[in-house]
Amino acid sequence: MTLDTTSYKIPVARSAADLREAVAAWRKEGLSIALVPTMGALHEGHLSLVDLARTKADRVVVSIFVNPTQFAPNEDFSAYPRTEAADAARLEGKADLIFAPDAADMYPEGFSTTISLSGVTEPLEGAFRPTHFAGVATVVAKLILRAMPDIAIFGEKDWQQLMVIRRMVADLDIPVEFLGGPIMREADGLAMSSRNAYLSPEERKAAGQLNVILRETAVSVAKGMPISEATAEGSKRILAVGFDKLDYLEIRDAASLAAFPDNKPAGPARILVAAKIGRTRLIDNMPV
Ligand code: AMP
Repeated sequence: MTLDTTSYKIPVARSAADLREAVAAWRKEGLSIALVPTMGALHEGHLSLVDLARTKADRVVVSIFVNPTQFAPNEDFSAYPRTEAADAARLEGKADLIFAPDAADMYPEGFSTTISLSGVTEPLEGAFRPTHFAGVATVVAKLILRAMPDIAIFGEKDWQQLMVIRRMVADLDIPVEFLGGPIMREADGLAMSSRNAYLSPEERKAAGQLNVILRETAVSVAKGMPISEATAEGSKRILAVGFDKLDYLEIRDAASLAAFPDNKPAGPARILVAAKIGRTRLIDNMPV
């Protein structure tokens, strides 16, 4: 196979070999490379990471791969939006190469390796999606090992994921610089997400309250309210504005995601939430 240069204005590599060939050619010219891993359905949040990548490296590779192994059987893998042509159009003039492998290329017959981390993967998302982070860690390690970029860029939107990948890169001595980009939000503060496309107009309106409640809960704790009291109040409000189920609303150590034993922050803290509205599960976070 060779690079697909005809489907879109941006070339697409569909196999590891094609990706490696393109990257090797850049390396020969002495160019630096950034990788931005995504699952596609690109929005301004993704594009902000691509812009950040552009300021850090000479060439930018965006991977688009809806990774089956990070979805549990009851989750939205088959419904997840797949919009490759629109994604390619959005990346025009921003990225230099799309890496869009298929599942058989990423996980050929006999594939048997899983990277699993303890500690930071266990609470929050890990408690509600027990197989999620092993899927994420394994696919991110593969994407980095395939592209061998100088720098890999992820969003703070998935804060726990950011901490998990940072841990993995450090623990496995993966020779890549690791960088997080800030959360891009809609006008009402809703964190941009490919999953926002699932929301009905009514759900979308309620979803805009999540970041407001998150901020106000964080402010209460910053002003001295005990964590359990503030999060209990915030939890009630999330359900009152129209969310159907709250998975968690927690204030945790920003790096380890451990709980604070004294019911008040002792060092950098982050508030994190996951809640379902209709069939859509939304997550968000911010500093305290
Ligand atoms: P996804 O396609 O959802 O796997 O996301 C790909 C990357 O984009 C991840 O590193 C996400 O954290 C990041 N991302 C998703 N939404 C946003 C957002 N609203 N702002 C900044 N980064 C984001």
